[in-house]
Amino acid sequence: MLSRCLPFLLLAVSALAEPQPQTYTLPPEKLAKAIEYARARNRLHFAATAYGFAVLAGVVGLKIAPRLRSRVEKWTRRRAFQAFLFTPPLLLAVDAAMLPAAVYGHHLSLKFDQSIQGWESWFWDWTKAELLTFLISAIAVWLLYGVIRRSPRRWWFYGWLASVPLTILLVFAAPVLIDPLFDRFEPLSARRPDLVAAIEKVAARGGLSIPPSRMFEMRASEKWKALNAYVTGVGASKRVVVWDTTMRRMTTGQTLFVFGHEMGHYVLGHVWLGIGAACAALLIGLYLGYRFLRLAVARWGGRWDIRGVEDWASLPVLMLALAVLSFAAEPLENSFSRRLEHEADIYGLEVIHGIVPDSARVAARSFQILGEVSLSDPHPGPFVEFWLYDHPPVSERVRFASEYDPWGKGEEPKYVR
Ligand SMILES: [Zn+2]
Repeated sequence: MLSRCLPFLLLAVSALAEPQPQTYTLPPEKLAKAIEYARARNRLHFAATAYGFAVLAGVVGLKIAPRLRSRVEKWTRRRAFQAFLFTPPLLLAVDAAMLPAAVYGHHLSLKFDQSIQGWESWFWDWTKAELLTFLISAIAVWLLYGVIRRSPRRWWFYGWLASVPLTILLVFAAPVLIDPLFDRFEPLSARRPDLVAAIEKVAARGGLSIPPSRMFEMRASEKWKALNAYVTGVGASKRVVVWDTTMRRMTTGQTLFVFGHEMGHYVLGHVWLGIGAACAALLIGLYLGYRFLRLAVARWGGRWDIRGVEDWASLPVLMLALAVLSFAAEPLENSFSRRLEHEADIYGLEVIHGIVPDSARVAARSFQILGEVSLSDPHPGPFVEFWLYDHPPVSERVRFASEYDPWGKGEEPKYVR
């Protein structure tokens, strides 16, 4: 009799004991898919990067830029017009050559149930992004080459100085002018007034008032199956955006945790930290780009038909240098991002504590859902994590969330007292 009771007894005892840390698990079929998806995406990333270098090298070797520059100089003597006639066709040549990699990326999102966006709509988004890039790049190239002509030895610094306010302006304008070109945004209060009230409670717990006018729902379900939420903008445009797909898949408690995490980014000033880091990286990049460009043009300028650094035709050489540098900086950038994401996780856990019942398990569960839907690989190799992961792996986030308990241990919470 006792032997038959024993399993129940054990079960009862284990329920009384410390809750076991939760782990991120996938059913076998999903696990196989997740691994296949991760491998395909990682291969694509490195292959597309190498291919991108080859494309830029090809553009330099085939002297596409000098030919374009000679034509443009014949058409007009005005530098601003030259920049607008030279930059877009050059970028279009590069991006058209890169299109197969982008197409394959979208194919993977469709195949692995992340996206439901049809090809026509996807290609229209690609086109809009190109047009926007042409406009912004033409202005940037016009300004940069103006600085190069005036200050051949210090242009990397003055160019960087000018880029700082432009970067801030772009971040400011992105949620207001750029994002609505691609997706629909609605004030969260319009569709989920119940959620806004709950979120305000969570925000107040963090000593913060995010006005409802700064909470948005993005109609991601028109294009995506994936889940997401983020903080964007600066100053008057700063806001929290949650994809409707997230709210559909998650309970109110889980959505509140997602909000808590985003609120962490908001409160801890992560947008500004990101801008600061990007500007620092750009300063280093421009300096190294300046050194490389000077050397390369002095050595091979004749062969490549580039008259000097100040020649429009030097642009693809500079682009190649910056592409190599930004690839080399990926691990650094991602480890910085993983750190901020971890901080936001801690903030989220703390800010819903005492508001959402059983908050640690709710948070762990929302990571589990996030991982399942986005087919996150439970065991990315250390190299893949080091180079490519901008968030901590889901398995780590689930474990951390289920174990984080400063209150139970009599310790001070890190952010929300
Ligand atoms: Zn985050």
